[in-house]
Amino acid sequence: LFVSEPEFLKGVVAMDGMPPADRVEVCFAGRSNVGKSSLINALTGRRALARASNTPGRTQEINFFTLSASHYLVDLPGYGFANAPVPVVAKWQALLKAYLSGRASLRRAFVLIDSRHGPKDVDEEIMTLLDRSAVPFQAVLTKADKVKDAERDRAIDRTRAVLARHPAAYPTLIVTSAEKGWGIATLRSEI
Ligand code: GDP
Repeated sequence: LFVSEPEFLKGVVAMDGMPPADRVEVCFAGRSNVGKSSLINALTGRRALARASNTPGRTQEINFFTLSASHYLVDLPGYGFANAPVPVVAKWQALLKAYLSGRASLRRAFVLIDSRHGPKDVDEEIMTLLDRSAVPFQAVLTKADKVKDAERDRAIDRTRAVLARHPAAYPTLIVTSAEKGWGIATLRSEI
């Protein structure tokens, strides 16, 4: 992947606000604070690119970034926000379902999992949604620099066990650290 023109395009709250489905598209999903913005910044080589999507008000939107004339990167809202009001959660879940099942140009989802915590129930919920939406997905462990090797290996094993239950999952996972640059080239080549 040649990231030639990384820029924040727009945040959308409804399907009809999305840009035309005329480019290859990948999306990133993960719990709040998993390190999604940092990973997007590392991937694109733009330090503050994803900050726009982390500002208050933007967090419930589906955020589109252009990577090049032929690729979009889509940042899905961080999930697992227990404090959000029920109607807000319901609205974003409806948008998420509509996006995952209706976006013709979406080729792959990356499900980010914190190396320190391993896969959580909400991660499996997203994976199940991806299975049902027939969106192939790949797991990405984040913040690998924060854990000891044994702890990282345990997170890998637990993630693999979860992936084995999901038909839309790629068997291979990618171990990354936005901080150290680990796995970034692999992730880029997967895209
Ligand atoms: P987001 O909410 O998923 O977008 O998460 P952020 O990218 O904002 O990261 C959440 C916190 O984790 C921030 O304090 C980051 O500095 C930190 N963080 C993110 N990625 C890494 C990483 O690879 N290594 C370390 N050590 N910290 C990270």
